Formats: sequence, structure tokens, C-alpha cells
Amino acid sequence: MATTVLTSALFSSNIYAQTNANEQQQQWHELEPTVILISIDGARHDYLDRYAAPNLNRLANEGLRAEHLQPVFPTKTFPNHYSLVTGLHPQNHGITENSIYDPNFDAIFRMSITHEVTNPRWWGGEPIWVTAELQDTIAGTFFFPGSEAPIKDTQATYWFPYDGSVSNRERVDTVIEWLEKPQAERPQMITLYFSDVDSAGHGYGPGSREVAQALRNIDNEIGHLVTQLEQRGWLDSVDIMITADHGMARVDQTKHMVIDQAYDSERAERALYSRELAHIFAKDGEIANIVAELEANLPHAQVFTKETMPARFHYTDNDRIADVLAVANPGWIFAREFRLEDMQNDPEYFRPRGSHGYDNEHPDMQGIFIAHGPSFKQNAEVGPVKMVDLYNVVAHILALEPAANDGNPAVIPMLLNVEPEAE
Ligand code: AMP
Ligand code: ZN
Ligand code: ZN
Repeated sequence: MATTVLTSALFSSNIYAQTNANEQQQQWHELEPTVILISIDGARHDYLDRYAAPNLNRLANEGLRAEHLQPVFPTKTFPNHYSLVTGLHPQNHGITENSIYDPNFDAIFRMSITHEVTNPRWWGGEPIWVTAELQDTIAGTFFFPGSEAPIKDTQATYWFPYDGSVSNRERVDTVIEWLEKPQAERPQMITLYFSDVDSAGHGYGPGSREVAQALRNIDNEIGHLVTQLEQRGWLDSVDIMITADHGMARVDQTKHMVIDQAYDSERAERALYSRELAHIFAKDGEIANIVAELEANLPHAQVFTKETMPARFHYTDNDRIADVLAVANPGWIFAREFRLEDMQNDPEYFRPRGSHGYDNEHPDMQGIFIAHGPSFKQNAEVGPVKMVDLYNVVAHILALEPAANDGNPAVIPMLLNVEPEAE
């Protein structure tokens, strides 16, 4: 046979091309276990039913869909993405907020401070791409919190500094290029990140046309990814996991509490505020006074100390967690005194908007979870899945020894085609 093909190839370049394609096809079918872990920032659990998303729904119907993905507290972007890839609660991985004060370093971390984001001192635990690389499995991250820092002196083989202006299409096409690499260079653990749905949710609220449009755009990119995989015969060889770091609650700026007016800030050593959370490091002996003032003046918030923090938040055991934490009730926001006038004079003051960061059990904070591929159950609907439980699942698919983590390994047989006894 081989002789025939070779002889024919002398006369027909088409046949030669065909042979090459067949060989490649065979190579593609022999893909090592491969996971594409996708984050659609702020994709609330019910968006799939409320808005048109044919490609996401196709993957959910053919594969597996969870009732929702429960974020960790606080329901913010950086803590949740890093819990997803480490299996750890924020108190254990150290990314306790999008903006963090570390009293030991006496330094501030923000998503926008590149020299801190890239500094491994902030990032505890072991993200899945580090687990992979340390076990000779190649990883590629097309954006993910933590991917820019050499954690345990290790980064994914392929990674990029975060740049929100890189088009979603370029992100997807790059992942396809990675998969086309020869076996020795092809990543098996891949991340993809999309911010558009979160941005639309913040700007116009979860019930808006803008969210519907953003979801449609991302769905279209997922459709492009699926088509590219299908054309190469890979769709059933690659495990795709689609996650969201948190949901989105509708907020109305008229429903605000002025955080600076709610207590005497002289009592604080330092405070970090967002629209949903206030983290207050107290001066000596001032914790009780701060709590008393906040409780009296914040009718639509919960106030906690490390002693009264609900255990289910897993949010006490880290020096980066402040002495006093105020959490707005969903639908309410904190406002800063110095911004109040600008906010109220804004012609768009009354427009619906969206926020997250609230209690991680609130229905509006729950995200989507869809999985499709050879390792996952098919035509399956499962109950809620927790953010910290997915690290073990990815490690299992890639046959990696997981680092110590907070996830429940019983979730592996709930999602994957494995016998519970085998675990
Ligand atoms: P949030 O403020 O919690 O809504 O965070 C969402 C925003 O985080 C996105 O719109 C991005 O601008 C930003 N973001 C997401 N991933 C990264 C990253 N890896 N590095 C820096 N910023 C990021
Ligand atoms: Zn987010
Ligand atoms: Zn957001």
C-alpha cells in the first residue's frame, strides 16, 4: 500500500496532500488528554436560559450542565479565578480580594499594579498550570489571574501579560494554534478568559440588552472554537470546561450607603473599599467601636469581625483579611463621600447597573458551569458545583497528582466517567 501511495504521489500532489491530512487526522485522534478551561467572567447561572446562546446550550445539552457554579466568598474576580485553579479558599491561597493590603509586606496588591500582580509573594497554593508543568505536562494560559507570576518558580510554557484589548477571536485562534503544535510542544492544560459579559453586567445590569449581546458575542466565539475543533476531528477528544467566576446582581445607584459617613475613619489604621465590601484594619482597641458604628449606620449591610464571620465564608485565617468587614446586601452598594456629587449628577445616575462581591450563597452570585468532552458525562444535569472542587477534576483528567487543596474529591465521579469505587 505504501508503495502505491508513494508512486501515485509522484503523479498527483493531491494524493500526497491527502495522505498527509490522513496522518495528521490520525495524530489528532491520538491527542493526549487535553483540557480547555474557559472563564466567562460574570456569566450568571440563569443567562443560558434567559438569553440566546446556541453554542453554549449545545455543549450543555450534549455534555454536562450544573445547576450552578457556586463562587467562593468574596464573589470577586481575582479570588474566584484563583480558587478555581488552586482548589483553595481565598484565606488559604492569599488572593483575598481584587485589592489586598498585606500588613506583613506593608504593600497593596491591585489588578492594575503590574509589579505586584507578577510578584509570586502574593500567590499561594499551586495553580493547575503549575501542577501540570511540574509534572512534565505543558500548559498554556490565554489570560488568567496568577498566570503572570512565577508561582513555585514556574509558569505555563505559553502565557501573556494581561491585555484586555486583545480580541476574543485572537484568543481562540491562538488556542487552536497551540493544539496544532507537535506533540512535544502542544499544551494539554489550557485556559481562556473573556471579560465582556462581566463588563456589560456592570454597566447595564444583568437584565439588559447589553448583557444579552455580550453573551451572544462570547457564544459566537465558543461556536468558532467548536467549529475549529470539529474541522480537525478534535471535538470529542478535548475536554472543554466553561465556568464563571461569579454572577451579577442588579443594583441601582440610588440604593447606596456612604461608607465614609458610616463610622469614624480615625478609628481605622487603613481601609479598602469597593462598591460591595469594606475591609477595615482597626487601630488598637477600636474594633468594637467600628462595628457598633457600622451596625448603627449601615441598614443594608452585614458587619463581621473575624470572631463573627460565618464559617461558611472560610474567610478569617489570613493576615490580609481585615479586622472588620462590611458586606452590602445584594442590590445595595457602598459609595464614597468624595464621589457622591459626581455620582448623583451623572445623567446616567438612574440607569440599572450590576455588582458582585456579595454573599456567595445568594442566587444572583451563582455562575454557569458546562463541561463537554470525553472525560465528562454526557447529556447530564448535575446539582450545584463549588468553585474549589474543580481543581481536583482537572488534575484527574490530566492524570496529575493534585497539590493539597480544599476541594471535595467526591465531585470527580459526579462529573466524570469514572466509577465511584475507583476513587
Ligand atoms: P471585576 O472588577 O471584579 O469586575 O473584574 C473584572 C475585570 O478584571 C475585567 O474586566 C478585566 O479588566 C480585569 N481582569 C481580568 N483578568 C485579569 C488579569 N489576569 N489581569 C488583570 N486584570 C484582569
Ligand atoms: Zn469577575
Ligand atoms: Zn465584575
